[in-house]
Amino acid sequence: MILSSKGLDIKPSSTLEITAKAKQMKADGIDVVGFGAGEPDFDTPDHIKQAAIEAINEGFTKYTPASGILPLKKAICNKLEADNKVSYKPSQIVVSNGAKHSLTNTFMAILNPGDEVIIPAPFWLSYVQMVKIADGVPVVVKTSKENNYKATMDDLKNALTDKTKAILINSPSNPTGMVYSEEELKQVAEFAVENDLFVISDEIYEKLIYGDEKHISIASFNEDIYNRTIIINGVSKSYAMTGWRIGYAAAPEQIAKIMSNIQSHASSNPNSIAQKAALAAISGSQECVDKMKTQFDKRREYMYNRVSKMPYISAIKPQGAFYVFVDLDSALGKKYKGEVIENANIFAKLLLDNEKVAAVPCTDFGYDTHFRLSYAIAMENIEKGLDRIENFLNNLQ
Ligand code: PMP
Repeated sequence: MILSSKGLDIKPSSTLEITAKAKQMKADGIDVVGFGAGEPDFDTPDHIKQAAIEAINEGFTKYTPASGILPLKKAICNKLEADNKVSYKPSQIVVSNGAKHSLTNTFMAILNPGDEVIIPAPFWLSYVQMVKIADGVPVVVKTSKENNYKATMDDLKNALTDKTKAILINSPSNPTGMVYSEEELKQVAEFAVENDLFVISDEIYEKLIYGDEKHISIASFNEDIYNRTIIINGVSKSYAMTGWRIGYAAAPEQIAKIMSNIQSHASSNPNSIAQKAALAAISGSQECVDKMKTQFDKRREYMYNRVSKMPYISAIKPQGAFYVFVDLDSALGKKYKGEVIENANIFAKLLLDNEKVAAVPCTDFGYDTHFRLSYAIAMENIEKGLDRIENFLNNLQ
């Protein structure tokens, strides 16, 4: 039988793979330190869980409108207005099964076959596959360490063709933790307006920003950019709710309508109980976010400082999210037990096999000379894992 060539062309998610492998090793009794985590290690805050329990007890267990319940959409509009200075009506909000789903809906709503989407690398690995699922063409633009792994105007100009339909911006970024400044975003906005492009702005890590950096939503600058931006956000990362699967998109009315129609046939409403939980998360006290952020910040400092002192590797201090993007630098070309470290995949494999540390090689993130360490794990594991990485590096020849 001939199967879908499009389906066959889609790669599995290697971050989920690495995390699964580390979990399996743990289950087999091996003392593994997993730095793969793409989710907070904290439990979902109590008041959010309570809202879900109430929803069940009240029998809020049936279909809801496909694009989400009105109170949740209203709470999202209020949040966008208060936090991001952007004004949306509930009809412009589509609530989905996680931001991942919001992103796939977006690409399906705006792309025609052959339309190109500019994706600055390193990027969160799913973008490229999602664009392909929607019959688009991902155009990967490699950014430089000198520019803190952010796209420059020249990068964007060089990638522009008459097929370019959209640019993807992810700030704070997974995997780099970099945050685009207001000035940088203004330039991207001008470029998008000048060239009649959409901007997909993945803001899922917006609440996890440390130090003096500020999150700015590109849609907030003016009417022109607002009308061509699709904001993606969700509760997974900010409220430790990855398993609940609630994300959302805020978009121009017509795009939201298309997304909602697609979703109504593909999956219907996101889980009714999780929607109530997300409502409690977004409209309730934000103290829980600050508490988690304080912990992440401590770990960020610790991890960055340790990595910076290690031989052969280097990193730029992350400003947001919960990852350190590590450059293999002069470790490349060195040998471990006779095997040459040619790229991040070989490094990650040797590290897991020999030191029982799972780190994510960033090959599928468009950067095969780097790996990603998550600090969404307990401090004692961070310490133990970094000791092991240091030991590994000390044994390079
Ligand atoms: N965007 C980015 C940049 C992410 O890192 C993730 C999760 N890894 C998502 C979107 C998707 O989040 P979710 O589907 O859990 O809402």
